[in-house]
Amino acid sequence: MTSEIAIKLASVNKRFGEIRALDDASLAVERGELLAVLGPSGCGKSTLLRVLMGFESPESGEVTVGGRALSGDGRPSVPPDRRHIGMVVQDYALFPHLSALRNVEFGLHTLARSERKRVAQKALDLVGLSHREEAFAHQLSGGEQQRVALARALAPEPDVVLLDEPFSSLDASLRAGLRRDVHEILREVDATAILVTHDQEEALSMADRVAVMRDGRIVQIGEPQEIYWQPVDKWVAEFVGDVNLLRGEVKSGRVSTDLGLIALPHDVVEGEHAVALRPEQLEVTANPTGGFEVVEREFYGHDIMYRIKAADGSTLIAQRPSLELCEVGERVDVVPAAGSIASVVG
Ligand code: ATP
Repeated sequence: MTSEIAIKLASVNKRFGEIRALDDASLAVERGELLAVLGPSGCGKSTLLRVLMGFESPESGEVTVGGRALSGDGRPSVPPDRRHIGMVVQDYALFPHLSALRNVEFGLHTLARSERKRVAQKALDLVGLSHREEAFAHQLSGGEQQRVALARALAPEPDVVLLDEPFSSLDASLRAGLRRDVHEILREVDATAILVTHDQEEALSMADRVAVMRDGRIVQIGEPQEIYWQPVDKWVAEFVGDVNLLRGEVKSGRVSTDLGLIALPHDVVEGEHAVALRPEQLEVTANPTGGFEVVEREFYGHDIMYRIKAADGSTLIAQRPSLELCEVGERVDVVPAAGSIASVVG
């Protein structure tokens, strides 16, 4: 079965004066896929969404959504209201003087009145808020407001949905639950969606694939596990999580480091390379004559982060289950956990 591409950006460029907000940015999203665009503040995430929505015109490159070319190739850009794109933003953006139902109906003005109500009620039902259709924004919790915003975006059955930092106004306890719910709802209607976020955990836990963005460029795109375990360079390795960077000599598919021999995922050119190991790939064992010393310990309940000093003065970070308790000042051995595979980042 061939997959259908629902969103395509091909070599899109957008400048603001000297700033290259989008620098030859390319990506493709398959129909029914949830792609997270992950990057630090100022990397161009919002510009990418604004170009998709039609609020910004790129200087060059092509934008295609639902099989329709929206801009590029010298043709006039399709205006935002003709793009069939749904949008959910950070601050809900509900009309305060309208009920939840009327907020959802708002985007359905092309339908007859009775049809509008039926479609809006179905969308509110989808997000589990049928019982609150008469409530105004101030009578709804942050999570409920964001569900109404999602219902409003989905009700017109858009070709794609764009979610711009949709959970960042919510507190941590609400955020996790709403992420799960939104994920399920998008699956249920088989929506094609782009989620823009600077939150690594959000991108890795929710998305089918993650596009990592830096300085206007898409620097890596792949499944969450690939992004986390096989980052393309040091910057991506450090941006998506804590990491230990080591130098070592690559030979016969393995790298020889100060921590010993570690396996590599694929054929790498022999010679000196920088490799990355995640903190959970290090094993720490108490040993009074060990070559390392625990210098810091952070207890997180389910696990512990150790900062560990090596004899040469360099530090490592190790994440261990909290049942394995070592004390600050204690001497330890540190080895790569069995089966660890390092990634080559330089
Ligand atoms: P954040 O996560 O902080 O919202 P972002 O990744 O969404 O950041 P953008 O808002 O797309 O980043 O901005 C990318 C770059 O373009 C930034 O350097 C920003 O200052 C600049 N920029 C964005 N919009 C404009 C504009 N209208 N005029 C001038 N510069 C702009």
